[in-house]
Amino acid sequence: MKLSDNEKKQRSLEVAEDARQTRWEKASFVADLFKGEFNWSMLHPFPLQSEEDKAEGDAFLDKLEHIIKMHIDPDKVDQTGIIPPSAIHALAEIGCFGIKIPKRYGGLGLSQTNYNRAIALVASWCSSTAVLLSAHQSIGVSEPLKHFGTPEQKEQYLPRLAHGAISAFALTEEGVGSDPANLATTAELSHDGKHYILSGRKMWCTNGPIADILIVMARTPSIVVNGKEKKQITAFIVERNLPGVEVLYRCDFMGLKGIQNGILRFDKVKVPVDQIIGKTGDGLRIALKTLNTGRLTLPAASAAAAKVLLSGCRSWIREREQWGSIIGKHQFIEEKMSKMASYTYACEAITWLTSSLADIGKQDIRLEAAMAKYFCTEICSEIADDALQVRGGRGYETVKSLKERGENPLPVERILRDIRINRIIEGTSEIMKLFIAREAMDTHLRFIFPIMNPRTPLKDKLHNVSKAILFYTHWYPTTWVPSTPKMNTKYLSAMNRKHLKRLPALSRKLARTLFHTMGRHQHKLEREQMLIGGLVDIGTWLFACSSVLAYTEALALRGNSPHCQELANHFCQLAFEKIDLCFNEFGKRPVHSMHVVTDSILHNHYDWLENGIISTTEQTETRYPNLAKINVMDEKSTHIKF
Ligand SMILES: Cc1cc2nc3c(=O)[nH]c(=O)nc-3n(C[C@H](O)[C@H](O)[C@H](O)COP(=O)(O)OP(=O)(O)OC[C@H]3O[C@@H](n4cnc5c(N)ncnc54)[C@H](O)[C@@H]3O)c2cc1C
Repeated sequence: MKLSDNEKKQRSLEVAEDARQTRWEKASFVADLFKGEFNWSMLHPFPLQSEEDKAEGDAFLDKLEHIIKMHIDPDKVDQTGIIPPSAIHALAEIGCFGIKIPKRYGGLGLSQTNYNRAIALVASWCSSTAVLLSAHQSIGVSEPLKHFGTPEQKEQYLPRLAHGAISAFALTEEGVGSDPANLATTAELSHDGKHYILSGRKMWCTNGPIADILIVMARTPSIVVNGKEKKQITAFIVERNLPGVEVLYRCDFMGLKGIQNGILRFDKVKVPVDQIIGKTGDGLRIALKTLNTGRLTLPAASAAAAKVLLSGCRSWIREREQWGSIIGKHQFIEEKMSKMASYTYACEAITWLTSSLADIGKQDIRLEAAMAKYFCTEICSEIADDALQVRGGRGYETVKSLKERGENPLPVERILRDIRINRIIEGTSEIMKLFIAREAMDTHLRFIFPIMNPRTPLKDKLHNVSKAILFYTHWYPTTWVPSTPKMNTKYLSAMNRKHLKRLPALSRKLARTLFHTMGRHQHKLEREQMLIGGLVDIGTWLFACSSVLAYTEALALRGNSPHCQELANHFCQLAFEKIDLCFNEFGKRPVHSMHVVTDSILHNHYDWLENGIISTTEQTETRYPNLAKINVMDEKSTHIKF
């Protein structure tokens, strides 16, 4: 049966909605922010890492630093595409593949904060190695097993993983990127009920070509709920050496040259039934829940990359002289450098805040983690681009070329290539915004869904209407009242108090704007991505500001981060500028002309604009006339070995 575009979209939304974690068992600072409640006490005093936890991390980090410096040359990894096996072996020996696996299973049992410190350290040296470790334990087999595995599965796999058996996470397929609704990999129960027969292909699986154990998302037979087909996506633990598991191809990217990322084929692989994680149909929910903490690694890696860029540019702007002074004294460069330092500081504040919140476990951090991922990866890209500009031509030159000419080989070009993917993996920035918006609207949707649902009995509808009236008559006026919530400002500097004072009012304005926008666009709001994105951006900058203020107080009290107040001050000013801009532009973006132009692009109305060039189609046909014959995704082709 051929589905219309609308029906396809509806199906995708249903699958996403079904995978959602619907309950809010714990409080969330960001969820409250979107309701107009600025709960400062949830962030302040900032939960700095305890001395005890830090000491445990320090001992491991010392060993880790020694190993990476001794075994890994990041430029060689970039040039050859190989992380030396001796390095992987040495990393495994000190427990790098089981950093968060509990000690009773042979892991190091370190906290999320120490794990993120380790990834940050490695990322500052070699991004490919950081991705190897993070794909293994942020989204690989160990995390979902720790939370959703049976005792037998934990006993069987966690010790192996802790000792260096490499794992990978396989969700993406050729037709399945951000939207998992059309997963084509299937798993059917065998006649004797002992196995699932797994068939399909997975794309871009990081660590896939060298993994020992994979977590594979596949479709198990749909079930019928209320007369409607409900798709089932299930998570399987799959041993790489099972007959029928085959690596078709190792992919090569713009950056992260050392990662082993590939296309895998599963040809009627017999996976024992007890290799399901959780229950059938729980796969996506498990993946999303795992990502609530898994996503915290990318902010840590982004903060680390930002620091490397900052440190390289710091020495450069002091020594490079042009037009009669060092370039650090020219205002255009000052603008970039001050932003770079303040943004780096914000990435750091958000990273350590979310890591600590994950360790403490008292708050629901699904929104904070998504915002941390969205903010830090976007900001880090901006920092890298600015760093390249500050370095001028040298920013664009490779390390190899700089080194051979006898110049300081700062790896700005490599870092820019390496970090760009962070805005795409583990949820693209666009999908992060939609995810955050969906959760932010949850309070209102809980009232609206049952009222709008034609299947809700009239009695229940009326009950929900009266519940909604009761809620909104109380809540809505509070979004206008300029009340100052009770905030513990005892240890706050005067400057921070001034910034902090603005936040509750901005949070109330955000809540009002969200509510009005939902009322105006109702079920069509889902199409208004520019509006949704604007609201999420405001919320994200508010969260960043709050994190920075709380962090600054903690650092100031500790007393070993001189001048941190200057960074906080500059960051808050930049953030308020962004927030004001978002509010001012809200609903005023040229959405109509944007739609007209894109529609014309879709209808090929601007062919003429591409005159005078050799088109991409012509380039491909001229240069690769036999492309179809060598396509490794073609079942009939001989697969390419790497
Ligand atoms: C280096 C690398 C490593 C990876 N590692 C893994 C891995 O280990 N395991 C794994 O399973 N996958 C992995 N992936 C896949 C990665 O997760 C996907 O690339 C990502 O989910 C996006 O999917 P896509 O590339 O197909 O983009 P698409 O989903 O096709 O999206 C294309 C563009 O459209 C936008 N878009 C899509 N839907 C919407 C929407 N509803 N509204 C607005 N905009 C939209 C996206 O944001 C994006 O900008 C990896 C990819 C790379 C390149």
